[in-house]
Amino acid sequence: AREQVARAQKLEAVGLLAGGIAHDFNNVLTTIVGAAHLASLDAPEGSDIAGEIEQIEIAAKRAQSLVHGLLTFARREPGKPQPVDLCGVVKEVARLLKASVPPTVKLDCSDAVGHKMVMADHTNLHQIVMNLSRNAAEAIGGEEGVISVRVAAVDGTPPELAERADGWMVMEIADTGPGMSAETRARLFDPFFTTKPLGKGSGLGLVVVAGLVEEMGGRIEVDSAPGEGAKFVIYLPATSQPEAAQEQRQSETPRGHE
Ligand code: ADP
Ligand code: MG
Repeated sequence: AREQVARAQKLEAVGLLAGGIAHDFNNVLTTIVGAAHLASLDAPEGSDIAGEIEQIEIAAKRAQSLVHGLLTFARREPGKPQPVDLCGVVKEVARLLKASVPPTVKLDCSDAVGHKMVMADHTNLHQIVMNLSRNAAEAIGGEEGVISVRVAAVDGTPPELAERADGWMVMEIADTGPGMSAETRARLFDPFFTTKPLGKGSGLGLVVVAGLVEEMGGRIEVDSAPGEGAKFVIYLPATSQPEAAQEQRQSETPRGHE
């Protein structure tokens, strides 16, 4: 519980920072990127100064992508919980990933039959699955690996969660990547924590995932050790409401996007 409070405070800090200064910061960065680009046109090709200007451009662009991540994060509207087919969302994401990511994605929904709806915001759920699958694919880093997703109804009540009449669903996203050290596991959900090279990772993916899972009233767990891959386990509130109710509600309250 203390860990959750600390995480919530970190999330709040990120949100405040983003809302307050990220926008102005972005304008400054645009100037730096633009000026560096103009300077690069005047610099003699292959000279030291050309290389240094290039470094400025790369660093400023990386800062821009961090700020962009912050803005997206801060402007996010609170989600609208509706009955969503969890396996359906995983299938959508798997289809999207196939276009860009080499590893095989295996999906097992056999233990979710007749009980596979969760109460969640569809877009946010999509983002959770997408972020975790992308991390899994990036950890594997090639074609030689498998991402296994399992969706199932939970028997009873998961640890640290309340009993619900409609029960709980679980989604497990496991990969055959290199796994992670105890140090990485401890800092996984810290804003800006990344072990990826410059320009590759923002360190915000899991911050967003944890925030969304919390908003949905669920819980996220990690199981990983060096050389043993990683498994993210997410519990979400199940619902016995049919999917038809979802479409009707969607047409009643269209969602505005900026
Ligand atoms: P990013 O992907 O931008 O680095 P994330 O918040 O998504 O940021 O992840 C933070 C860090 O957690 C990653 O840089 C990586 O070290 C570790 N991590 C996340 N998912 C996995 C995974 N499936 N296997 C191994 N390490 C992971
Ligand atoms: Mg990530």
